[in-house]
Amino acid sequence: MKPTIEAVTFDVDGTLYSIRRMVIRHFLTMLPVADFFKDLHKVRDEMRGLGPFDDFRQEQARRLAQRRNLSQEQAFNQVIAVIDKRWMRVFKKVRLFRGVRSVLTELGRRKIKLGLISDYPLKEKIRGMRLEDIVFETSVVSEQAGALKPHPASFILAAEQLKLKPERILHVGDREDCDIEGAKAAGMIAALFVQGKTPPQTKADFVFSNWKQFIPILEERKMILKS
Ligand SMILES: [Mg+2]
Repeated sequence: MKPTIEAVTFDVDGTLYSIRRMVIRHFLTMLPVADFFKDLHKVRDEMRGLGPFDDFRQEQARRLAQRRNLSQEQAFNQVIAVIDKRWMRVFKKVRLFRGVRSVLTELGRRKIKLGLISDYPLKEKIRGMRLEDIVFETSVVSEQAGALKPHPASFILAAEQLKLKPERILHVGDREDCDIEGAKAAGMIAALFVQGKTPPQTKADFVFSNWKQFIPILEERKMILKS
């Protein structure tokens, strides 16, 4: 039987590394911008699924400015200062979940194409996660596609760049409302990575909580060939 998938795309934050662990480790760096993050998350949650916007960052700045009583330009620049600069600095020491790197290497060895689909900029993070040697045939930043997950735009763009039909792609993420909803809306197969309890309702094709289980699950479900 032909295996089902030819590519795997991954969400980054909370899927490849622990956000909680990073926040704890970099508490002092992040503390001064905790309020900013709270407001930004509210704005982004409001914008989830909307769009695509011609200029996502400007629309985000417009909404953030209202919430924080700033000019749109100030809000725009705050995002650059915090997201593109300060946050990326803490990435220099990020530690991947155990097993992630060997999953990426093993999938590559088996000629499964790899991709990243994230709501936040990726270039610095790939370096910080020390994954520069892994070939990602697509790395889509959803705000550059104009719309955050679960809008299907970034998933569709990833499929185009992988030159595959969405149904041949498995997307892995940690958020039901972003990754699973979005991947499914685009016609992909979806896997939910959870730490702790399985959510009571999931549209994911499977749920897992340990990266070491990932390849065996794909083999068992005949998504990839046994080797
Ligand atoms: Mg995530």
